Amino acid sequence: MTQLWIAGQHVAGTGTSVTVINPATEEVVAAVGSAVLEQVDSAVRAARDAADGWRRTPAAERADLLHGIATWLREHSDALARQMSIEGGKPLIENSDEVGWSAACFDYYAELGRHERGRVLPPVEDGQLALVLKEPLGVVAAIVPWNYPLLLLAWKLAPALAAGNTVVAKPSPYTPLSTLMLAGAFAELSPGVVNLVTGGAEVGEALVVHPGTDLVAFTGSTAAGLRIGELCARQVKRTHLELGGKDAFIVCEDADLSVAAPGAAWAAYLNAGQVCTSAERFYVMDSVYDEFVERMVAEAAAVRLGDPLAAGTDMGPMIAEVQRAKVEGQLASARDGGARILVGGDRGGFERGWFLSPSVVVDATDDLPLMREETFGPVAPIVRVSSLDEAIARANALPYGLGANVYTNRTDYAYRCLDELKAGTVWINDPLTDNDAGPFGGMKASGNSRELGPEGLEAFRETKHVHWDTRAERKPWWYPYA
Ligand code: NAD
Repeated sequence: MTQLWIAGQHVAGTGTSVTVINPATEEVVAAVGSAVLEQVDSAVRAARDAADGWRRTPAAERADLLHGIATWLREHSDALARQMSIEGGKPLIENSDEVGWSAACFDYYAELGRHERGRVLPPVEDGQLALVLKEPLGVVAAIVPWNYPLLLLAWKLAPALAAGNTVVAKPSPYTPLSTLMLAGAFAELSPGVVNLVTGGAEVGEALVVHPGTDLVAFTGSTAAGLRIGELCARQVKRTHLELGGKDAFIVCEDADLSVAAPGAAWAAYLNAGQVCTSAERFYVMDSVYDEFVERMVAEAAAVRLGDPLAAGTDMGPMIAEVQRAKVEGQLASARDGGARILVGGDRGGFERGWFLSPSVVVDATDDLPLMREETFGPVAPIVRVSSLDEAIARANALPYGLGANVYTNRTDYAYRCLDELKAGTVWINDPLTDNDAGPFGGMKASGNSRELGPEGLEAFRETKHVHWDTRAERKPWWYPYA
């Protein structure tokens, strides 16, 4: 499927043709025509036209429709997961999981969306009814990246729809195909409730500046998020920004390294390190540093790099040549700066495909790009620290604040970490788990909102306070004053 989905119709994008390439083979998978401005406009208009009807659809009916999307996702899991592996390079097992998590998210918000729509306040006058009403914002522009194309869309789409909004969504130009397949999932909704347009930053910006979009829900890089924030500020348009990270991973002296090292390897190398919450800086206490490094080298060497569609593959290629080149550049500058790459960092013997083998780096100084900037690749730089004070201070030293991990069984250490780490998620002995019922998002430059949980629904709702004097009485505090 290479066509856009606008007002319940498949439409060919008539803009620039974007070539989708299989990152494991470098073969062309498809060419997808981007939306031109008129098509972006049609999609926003379709969403506006559908907004009133969707908003007034009884919440229980909306819930049935959202459960229907979850059912469709599960029924099409194999085809979706395969398409995601072909265009995105993640191992099939991870993509099957992603489809399941996306379906679960729709089920969760189907129910949460019909649970309440505000609250009733104690009145300030006898006979007054004071209501706080939660309303949809209108039309949501949902712009997502390529690393978890369906899940990150579901985290926006499910709560936005449950709150009564209509949506225009744009996938990444690297991974449009699995998203365009979702038109089948939305076929039961009224035309215009969900619209899908494709293209790059220019199509995204057209949605951002369109006067018909009321909120921009964006997941992607901090640089693009800053640009979107600036554009939206000019229109006082709401933003919901989920941005980059540079997550720290602290290993305390009491940690069981037979668990902490494989957990650390998974946190660093999952999806070839292309997870917004990939662990990208390891701060390890002095007394366990040598053994931890040794174990991480063994873990990295054991990761099976290969065809994402083949059983037994742990890690596929990176998404694109440019992304691999960026990571290789960080590794090269680290080496030039005196760091040592103990294992990996090569192309794993593959002549085709954008493979990069998982690496372990030591002796990298804090001034290096590898230690300061988001890597988004399978690299684990490990730093020796003398105390928890030092680990926490270094973890908090960067402008990012998405997630943070710690391994310890000491309650005093665990408490200090959950209290002092400036991150939207803190995982203690439990790297990178998600829970639909709890919020996910970043502090500082990693974002300004939260997805999932009740917070993730609230992000897509407007608040109205109603003061209603049911008796319509004249008030004693009006003119004339005594
Ligand atoms: P990206 O910022 O290049 O692109 C993300 C999406 O935004 C794409 O659809 C892209 O076409 C669009 N886009 C880019 N510039 C735009 C602009 N000026 N206006 C409107 N739309 C624009 O990011 P990417 O390379 O696709 O994804 C990787 C980044 O995403 C990493 O920085 C990663 O940390 C971040 N990410 C964050 C989270 C999170 O939840 N915080 C989750 C996943 C990925």
